Amino acid sequence: MRTILTITNLTKKYGLLTAVNNLSFTIKKGNVYGILGPNGSGKSTTLGIALNVVNKTSGDFEWFDGTVSTHEALKKVGAIIERPNFYPYMTAYKNLELVCKIKGIDTSKINEKLELVDLIDRKDSKFKTFSLGMKQRLAIASALLNDPEILILDEPTNGLDPQGIHKIRALIQQIASTGTTILLASHLLDEVEKVCTHVVVLRKGKKLYSGRVDEMISSHGFFELKCEDNISLISFLESHPSIEKTIRKDDLITAFLNTPLSASEFNKQLFNAGIPLSHLVLRKESLEEQFLKLTDNTSS
Ligand code: ADP
Ligand code: MG
Repeated sequence: MRTILTITNLTKKYGLLTAVNNLSFTIKKGNVYGILGPNGSGKSTTLGIALNVVNKTSGDFEWFDGTVSTHEALKKVGAIIERPNFYPYMTAYKNLELVCKIKGIDTSKINEKLELVDLIDRKDSKFKTFSLGMKQRLAIASALLNDPEILILDEPTNGLDPQGIHKIRALIQQIASTGTTILLASHLLDEVEKVCTHVVVLRKGKKLYSGRVDEMISSHGFFELKCEDNISLISFLESHPSIEKTIRKDDLITAFLNTPLSASEFNKQLFNAGIPLSHLVLRKESLEEQFLKLTDNTSS
């Protein structure tokens, strides 16, 4: 699978504040990536660096296979990192025509892109008459005029009403289904869950998790365990094929599952191994709990 963007040990400091802290991740062609994190976690700064509008402090980023300059590479990138801004008294069509002129691309794709974002019926309406959702969709049409390899969106649904949000998310999925790679920044867990295949979770500029969204979601839960003989229990857990990780805190042991396993079956296995438990609970974390835990400012 082709690599679109590689970010390696990227750091950005604003004075004493480290906005992006030693961040690395890779964007591969055809996936939908989310950069997920609370406000101020460094999402926009990361996008800004990759798009050459923010200077990095250290580290590297490389577009495509690294053989073209960033300037050349960015011609194959469509990005919306600010509020959509067009000429208010010009029509949607005329605004896109102007974008084509400025970027030196031909105007043949305008109608196709207006169709895609469901604004073809409003192509002759002035930009100022558009709702925020329509403005955002026009911005997406504009970013797609040159059929970019990747579409970058920063908080694409901020400020929209529920219907507008739904429409933008459906549009993103539709664009992705035609093979365009997408990278979007969002502070909304459910947005990333609904739209993205892959996620990079940030907190205070640091990467906490990166991987497939379904793998982050598919937690099979964890056992909370207590017994007299913790040493035997831990060694049993460490060699158990269904246990991914164990954490010991005081006399409570938490064992995370990588496959489904019922409490009664697990209890039987432990009993047969000569490890009687005094406490056994199977718990499952919601994705929201996992995310809150990942991004909790108080934990290390
Ligand atoms: P996010 O997009 O995740 O909300 P940002 O990348 O905008 O986060 O910001 C990350 C951190 O960097 C925040 O603490 C923010 O206040 C700070 N920051 C962003 N831009 C600047 C700037 N131009 N000057 C100083 N600090 C900035
Ligand atoms: Mg931001």
